[in-house]
Amino acid sequence: SVRSRFAPSPTGYLHIGGARTALFAWLHARHHGGTFILRIEDTDRERSTVESVNAILEGMAWLGLNYDEGPFYQTHRFAHYRAVLERMLDAGQAYRCYCTQEDLAARRESQLARKEKPRYDGRCRNLTAPPPGNPPSVIRFRNPLDGDVVVDDLIRGRVAFSNTELDDLVLARSDGTPTYNFTVVVDDMDMGVTCVIRGDDHLNNTPRQINILRALGAPVPQYAHVPMILGPDGARLSKRHGAVSVLQYRDEGFLPEALLNYLVRLGWSHGDQEVFSLDELVTLFEVEHVNRAAAAVNPDKLLWLNQHYLKTSDPDHVARHLSPFMGLHGIDPALDGPPLAQVVLALRERSKTLVEMAQKALPFYREFQDYDPASLKHLTPDAIEPLLALHTRFEQLADWQAAALHQTVEDVAAQHGRTFGQLAQPLRVALCGSAVSPAIDITLELIGRGRVLGRLERAVQ
Ligand code: GLU
Repeated sequence: SVRSRFAPSPTGYLHIGGARTALFAWLHARHHGGTFILRIEDTDRERSTVESVNAILEGMAWLGLNYDEGPFYQTHRFAHYRAVLERMLDAGQAYRCYCTQEDLAARRESQLARKEKPRYDGRCRNLTAPPPGNPPSVIRFRNPLDGDVVVDDLIRGRVAFSNTELDDLVLARSDGTPTYNFTVVVDDMDMGVTCVIRGDDHLNNTPRQINILRALGAPVPQYAHVPMILGPDGARLSKRHGAVSVLQYRDEGFLPEALLNYLVRLGWSHGDQEVFSLDELVTLFEVEHVNRAAAAVNPDKLLWLNQHYLKTSDPDHVARHLSPFMGLHGIDPALDGPPLAQVVLALRERSKTLVEMAQKALPFYREFQDYDPASLKHLTPDAIEPLLALHTRFEQLADWQAAALHQTVEDVAAQHGRTFGQLAQPLRVALCGSAVSPAIDITLELIGRGRVLGRLERAVQ
């Protein structure tokens, strides 16, 4: 059965390129009813951080990319890598190399001077004994000297590499720590990975990894190398293009399903369909159909998708995601005020992000500080009388519901020779501090009688 994995190096935040790779690997496993594995490639102890591991776990959890096995940590497996190395040394598949950095650099210089491609020249390949004094050594892989390694990449197609181009890779450094290409191979083998989905910056590592797998007698998995993500200007995506980390998108008020939908479409398509539920993706996604050309980000499309999901998702679900943004304003919607899901229903047509929605939800939960100066023009002296009349009617209203509230505003407007709109505008400013709010009847209902009366009193002072 299918086993795929996501294998991030915890050396920074989980960026959207990594998240998209994780999504593709997750979808591949789910599509085939297989297993999805999370492996943290933390062997680079200088650059790996706990914060980054946490950001990866948090980002995956927020996106809902659940894994069936893991997280595995490579740093927990050093003894195992060591044992595999010993076996390879015994079998002659690997050998100790005693060349010093200075020797290697000097030989590299002369290769360059001869216009040769710099590569390890195999000097220690056939040593029968260590040099005198047994100096420090690295362990190298005995790469085949001839023949081709063919990668039948599910996305890129057939890519052939000649073994004459591949030199003897270092498997372990002189301090004994294993190198990246080696730990990947051992883990993919041990974890029974059937399909390696990763960024195409790793394509050149693949023939080396295949050679090592073959030496170990392990089956060679399928490979799918995903093209990178570009900025809107066609350059490789970087921070200067705006948000690149998954958690930053979360903090900017995007729903996880919007980001997932956006990410899958960066490089994968199904006709001209834009909106996909996760279930649909699990059914439709085939890694073979990922585009081999790099995709460019499109921030407007992400906003459009986010608005789509805000508008169409279950309001309780949106409310759960909105709640922390209310918390940032010091508001616990559960304590005081209308049910947050009702506020979502009132605001979702007019919000592109949860940040915006939370901002617009504030008047439902607490008093505003100042009137918006541009909206104050609606609070004219001749609005005071109808507002006072509304206050009286609202005090007595039996049924605090949108329909009855609407009727009341209509009646009072008529009594004062105004249209509904001519009364709704000053009323909005009185209630929310600004002339922008959802429909006035819903606004009244959600703010609630007590707060409405208080704000009318404040407005007529
Ligand atoms: N750890 C590698 C990275 O973060 C991925 C290696 C792999 O997927 O094989 O780029």
